[in-house]
Amino acid sequence: MAAQESFPRLFSFEFSAPKSEEAFEKIRRVHDRLSELNPHFFSVTYGAGGSTKDGTKRLVLEINDSGSTAAPHLSFGGDAPEKIEALLNEYKDAGVTRLVALRGDMPSGMGASIKMTYANELVTFIREKTGDHFHIEVAAYPEIHPDSRSVESNLHFFKAKIDAGANSAITQYFYNADSYFRFVDSCEKIGVDIPVVPGIMPITNYRSLVRFSDICGAEIPRWIRKNLEDLQDDKDSLTAFGDEVVARLCEQLLEGGAPGLHFYTMNQSLPIVRLWRNLGL
Ligand code: FAD
Repeated sequence: MAAQESFPRLFSFEFSAPKSEEAFEKIRRVHDRLSELNPHFFSVTYGAGGSTKDGTKRLVLEINDSGSTAAPHLSFGGDAPEKIEALLNEYKDAGVTRLVALRGDMPSGMGASIKMTYANELVTFIREKTGDHFHIEVAAYPEIHPDSRSVESNLHFFKAKIDAGANSAITQYFYNADSYFRFVDSCEKIGVDIPVVPGIMPITNYRSLVRFSDICGAEIPRWIRKNLEDLQDDKDSLTAFGDEVVARLCEQLLEGGAPGLHFYTMNQSLPIVRLWRNLGL
């Protein structure tokens, strides 16, 4: 972890792109509340299948206009390179300087008909078209991406994104700090020396966490899963348990030298504000 400790600490929040006016309104309120915590940036997810593309751009430009730093997520999806280039130029002209470059996931049923472009190719494309304008974040998978053939290929293709020009990484969420420390050590051994910021998912709901974790390949340790299962009908106790587990994880990560934390807000401010206080940030 020596190299990670030398990076300045960076805290950021992620919003899921809104799909309705009500969702926009809610995120505006959440953004106002979370802005008080002075994060380095707010990122906004992108539906590679097209479901949220307009919502992503609109929210990013609003956040940017409000004076906060906004970082759109971006994938090729099924779009032509010209369309992605036009979007990059639009962001550039608006003063956006950060991006999260991803392969993305298609909604089930759509993926088979579209060739998904790997994230390293998107990073190469962004560098070709816009030079060094953007600070590019990419995704990292300490618990191994579900499509990876092996631990080694997980690392190999992560390195390909850095070699293509990515500046830093945000991890998929996890609840086992050892997986993160091991991943970072493996990166250092192969000469990858960029900040790898842990992605943190607050625990607020048993069923949605299990469903989401199954889809993205994040492991919920058995002892956490069993506690959540038992507490699922007692909201206050589940919240207290989740807050304690996630705060402890964040402490372990920061004490171990993690260069910041990226919070998956799920468009809610309260769990983040509680964590922030618990961590004394
Ligand atoms: P890649 O880095 O391209 O890797 C995908 C898989 O292919 C990996 O298993 C990798 O090892 C392998 N691979 C990579 N290159 C090659 C190659 N050349 N040949 C063979 N195999 C290769 N999804 C969304 O749809 N929208 C979002 O906004 C979004 N935001 C995210 C934010 C974060 C911080 C994270 C961690 C994930 C996010 N995701 C999002 C999910 C992400 O899109 C999925 O995990 C997706 O399956 C992989 O994206 P990637 O950019 O990591 O892909």
